[in-house]
Amino acid sequence: MSTELIKGHNRIQNGRVWDDNLGGAVGVEALDTNDVIKVLHLPNDVDLTAIAPALDRIETILIDFPAFTDGRGFSLARLLKTRYGFKGLLVADGQLIPDQYAFAMQCGFDAIRIDQDRLARQPQADWAQGLTDFGLTYQCGYAVKGGPATSVFDARLTAYDDLKKNDEYYGYSAELTLRKAVERFSGKIVLASSLGVDSAVLLHLAAKIDRNLPIIFLDTGKHFRETLTYRDQLIDRLGLTNFQNITPDKDALKVEDPDGTLHASDPDACCNLRKVRPLDNVIHGYEARITGRKRYQTPDRAEMPILETGGRQVKVNPLAYWQAKDVTNYIQQHDLPPHPLLALGYLSIGCQPCTTRVAPGEDPRAGRWRGADKTECGIHYIDGKWVPIERKKTFEAF
Ligand code: SF4
Repeated sequence: MSTELIKGHNRIQNGRVWDDNLGGAVGVEALDTNDVIKVLHLPNDVDLTAIAPALDRIETILIDFPAFTDGRGFSLARLLKTRYGFKGLLVADGQLIPDQYAFAMQCGFDAIRIDQDRLARQPQADWAQGLTDFGLTYQCGYAVKGGPATSVFDARLTAYDDLKKNDEYYGYSAELTLRKAVERFSGKIVLASSLGVDSAVLLHLAAKIDRNLPIIFLDTGKHFRETLTYRDQLIDRLGLTNFQNITPDKDALKVEDPDGTLHASDPDACCNLRKVRPLDNVIHGYEARITGRKRYQTPDRAEMPILETGGRQVKVNPLAYWQAKDVTNYIQQHDLPPHPLLALGYLSIGCQPCTTRVAPGEDPRAGRWRGADKTECGIHYIDGKWVPIERKKTFEAF
């Protein structure tokens, strides 16, 4: 890199702006010599094992940030300072914004280098404030209406304050969310479990907090025998002391589904009879319900908040932001028993008549009500239908 290319740059260090004096930066090809290197410029996808032997003769390293959403440079900084013990000056070079300043320091950078245009838009006061405004929650990402933030001001206004305002459990771990919800709605909160393939996760988290937490299971009379066995196994393993099986009203069953085939002719009516109404009968005394739903499971759930208000009852979705791999990891880490049908190709399990295996590569929920225009049983709907709460889109900053 020639000195011309870095003319007009400044360095932000300890919250202050300094004239940049990092001229004469060279690229990795300079490592072929044994000379002392004053300033080395690295792309953010560089292989550090090739640089490591030369680190003790490099005075300053600039790491390129081609976009503020590209966080690979942070990982390089951590590795250079912790794994490879780089003792020289480490400078982030490029498109960082003030809100990333504190995190850059945490990763091992000593300074950030920006051009004059950026400094004009984001003056020293912004950078100094960035050191105190944002903590680790910053890494949870921004929430910006209509896409990525275009300025630091947009990011500040929308990312932190608005998301926190709309979803006060934003940024909490699943366990902390659950713990806070159980404390907040003490005695008035219930966990509804489907005993599906990943139900063990939420039940395990609940057992860590309060083994006597009310847990309800909609025992529709149509479940797989394996699901009922799994239920008993988990109750025993986790020591759950307040597990309740909720069954449909016997008289209503005789009238509305006398031969037990309503699921085939009218699955919505069947779900209403065997799930929605029995649930309604027991949960009206609770102010909040804990669910194990996740955003990735269905398009309807894609923007589901962690703390869901607006209906008759608050819903707490501690696993909302979890991915399938998070569930798998948790189950493995805690050695939780798998649902017996998982090994047989059932990736989402409900009542036996309405659940089929899924083929490799198929959506896990494709086996639920296969062939029918139905994706939910209704118990997560308000007044019979899903009522989406306006949410801002999120994206991972890095
Ligand atoms: S999932 Fe099927 S069997 Fe179960 S309640 Fe709904 S329609 Fe009935």
